[in-house]
Amino acid sequence: MIFLDAAATTPVRREVLEAMWPYLSGDFGNPSSHHSLGEAAATALAAARSAVAKVLNCRAGEVTFTSGGTEADNLAVKGIALARQAADPAVNRVAISGVEHPAVEESARYLERVHGFAVDVIPVDGDGLVTVDALKSVLRPETALVSIMYANNEVGTVQPVAELAAAAHELGVPFHTDAVQAAGWLPLDVKGLGVDALSMSGHKLGAPKGSGVLFTKGRLRLEPLVHGGGQERGRRSGTENVAGAVALSTALTLASAEQDDAALRVSGLRDRFIAAVLATVPDAVLTGHPTKRLPSVASFCFPGTSGESVLLELERLGVVCSSGSACAAGSDAPSPVLLALGLDAETAQTAVRFSVTSAITPAELEQAAEAVETAVGRVRKLAQT
Ligand code: PLP
Repeated sequence: MIFLDAAATTPVRREVLEAMWPYLSGDFGNPSSHHSLGEAAATALAAARSAVAKVLNCRAGEVTFTSGGTEADNLAVKGIALARQAADPAVNRVAISGVEHPAVEESARYLERVHGFAVDVIPVDGDGLVTVDALKSVLRPETALVSIMYANNEVGTVQPVAELAAAAHELGVPFHTDAVQAAGWLPLDVKGLGVDALSMSGHKLGAPKGSGVLFTKGRLRLEPLVHGGGQERGRRSGTENVAGAVALSTALTLASAEQDDAALRVSGLRDRFIAAVLATVPDAVLTGHPTKRLPSVASFCFPGTSGESVLLELERLGVVCSSGSACAAGSDAPSPVLLALGLDAETAQTAVRFSVTSAITPAELEQAAEAVETAVGRVRKLAQT
């Protein structure tokens, strides 16, 4: 089987499994316990936090461990907006891009529904990019937060985060970025990016599902969403997932050391794959920005097919990937991301996303490109009968 669905999740790396195993077995203590087992767990948690902080170029105290990217996004969007409103009731808007993951979009909608915030959706261009002018046109002094993702999960477009964050700061508005897809491929230096908050997830880079991180800058106030024993400096109560934190920090450290080589190699393979698909299916439409895109993602619409049918055919041919709307579980509605890029609903239904880990080989992608030609041909033939 050729696995081309790494943007959905990745297998756990052996080094990661080995690093986390002691905290699931011998050193299984609760980090809040005042005995040697608890201390061993607390020490491991502190080391994991420092390792994450090193990659993010921030202080350990600015790292909050969460249950994943979704929780980190929720905590950022709701937590920052609610804390800012508590300090100044005039603050009552949030600005998000039109291509955010539901974890951000639905958090903003929650603020609208339950707390009376207005949501400003910043439009993207045909390649999925947010421009500084588009952001500036929605920014107001009463904007609590801007949240714009680093890299898109469906089409791979990479946003000019540093420029966008600087524009938000001109009006004194904090800037959050969802870096779930960027992690492992793009620099995560929060000072270089100039962001006030950044979320990421372990399972996209070789850690198990159920671990995530939210960076929040310095004294930026955050209203907690989970109340209890005050763990994670009161930002996120609940006994810490020590093994998950160790796993995430190990995976992130490995990925960041390998990142430059991996990004160079994989983006070359991705470009060859894109060229091969466009050569054999000439009317295929590459979605997302042609160059400002994740090294690991190639996404297309195949007019005259349905994305789901192409997926099924590809799986029969031994290639596993996803349709554009993979993140909206169980939904066969056209992807809001593709609609935001200006595609019509019919074309958006024909989307297929191919995404790879750094372990991908040239031979696998050559075989996959041949399978795409066959699968699209078969689906089109069936549609005509
Ligand atoms: N944000 C983006 C851009 C994603 O792609 C995903 C997952 O696909 C998430 C957030 C949610 O992360 P998690 O699966 O860790 O909850």
